[in-house]
Amino acid sequence: MLDPKIEAMPRAEREKYQGRLLHTIVRHAYEKAPGWKKRLDQAGVRPADMRTVKDIESLPIIRKDDIVRLQRESPPFGGLLAAPPEKIERVAVAPGPIYLPLVTADWKTSTKAYYGLGFRKGYKAINTFSYMYMASWGGDTCMRRIGVAIIPTGVGNTELQVQIMRELQVEGFAGTPSFLLNIIRKAEDLGFDFRKDFRLKVAMLSAEKFTPALKQALKSYGLTCQDLYGTAEGHVAFECEHTRGYHMLDENIWEVVDPKTGRALGPGEQGELVATALSFKGFPLLRFGTGDLAYYMDDPCPCGRTSYRIGPLLGRVEDTTKVRGAWVFPRQVEEVMARFPQVSRFQAVVTRQQNRDFLTVKVEAADTANRDNLSKAVADGIQDLCRLKVDKVEFVGAGTIPADRKTLVDERPWE
Ligand SMILES: [Zn+2]
Repeated sequence: MLDPKIEAMPRAEREKYQGRLLHTIVRHAYEKAPGWKKRLDQAGVRPADMRTVKDIESLPIIRKDDIVRLQRESPPFGGLLAAPPEKIERVAVAPGPIYLPLVTADWKTSTKAYYGLGFRKGYKAINTFSYMYMASWGGDTCMRRIGVAIIPTGVGNTELQVQIMRELQVEGFAGTPSFLLNIIRKAEDLGFDFRKDFRLKVAMLSAEKFTPALKQALKSYGLTCQDLYGTAEGHVAFECEHTRGYHMLDENIWEVVDPKTGRALGPGEQGELVATALSFKGFPLLRFGTGDLAYYMDDPCPCGRTSYRIGPLLGRVEDTTKVRGAWVFPRQVEEVMARFPQVSRFQAVVTRQQNRDFLTVKVEAADTANRDNLSKAVADGIQDLCRLKVDKVEFVGAGTIPADRKTLVDERPWE
């Protein structure tokens, strides 16, 4: 731990600590950023109302689309900038595009994530992220704070990356897991033994789905493969050496909410991740709706950090839907269907019949025998995982379901 006093503090104490920080950041945003003042006034929230962590629920959730709209209406930063212009050191660009003015002092808290991943003073690290994005600047800032020397190589030039990593005896890597694997494979093609000829110890891997296959491949080279969860807007959570979910940073409030109602959910309940970085003074983001679906865990972690942890990401809010009161995630449907190799394509379709939600699973199967068994196994699998009864398993002809289909479609009419 970089800061054991804070990272291992008793939970009740952390709640008080976060309550104080919440009050400070809301007051700061209200007083310094006209866009935030307007938003909070409209919601009827006063900074003085923010006393405890629980009070955060009275703040409206801000989404990517809202920021894009605000920045278009009131360029360049949508009235959300809470620092004098000369304090802005960089402007990162997030998809949208959203322009994110950065004040590097605000990144002190995220440094704990990089330390947690294993970056140490005196290391050299290549940063292969594009320097347009937050992942790059965030990583750069945090690694520098620890005392890591950065080699800003950007993406591409795999052969040159191999040469730099070997000749400089680089200990750290920041980039996507697949790009790291490309570099390792290139090194092997060039005749090197990665374990012997290279010094790579730690990697900050992010910005793409870290599949079990990728993880396994990287582990076989002796890398620890702790994952970092980050939004393009700069919120991060990290896996410690025990890789039991992403630790929340002490200066971030992560909520899991019902995407439709905004109601806060408890541990283990699946919903949308909403992030508030209490340390982002330059460009505060209060209750940022990430659109990512997950749940949180409150059981203790053997590493000694007392923060809650975010579980695996389950998908995106826009891809999910509620059927008869139960959430269905595309990933769950995919997980069930992966058990049936005879199924080439599938799609879950929600319709409305006689004022009731109706769930059909369409299936293209090579083998026409045993349809009844397959049908039952599909329905049972979904019932187990989603706690939801499948109304119909429909076998359709080959090529009926398009190759680029969505796993889950909602065809209910909404008036
Ligand atoms: Zn831990």
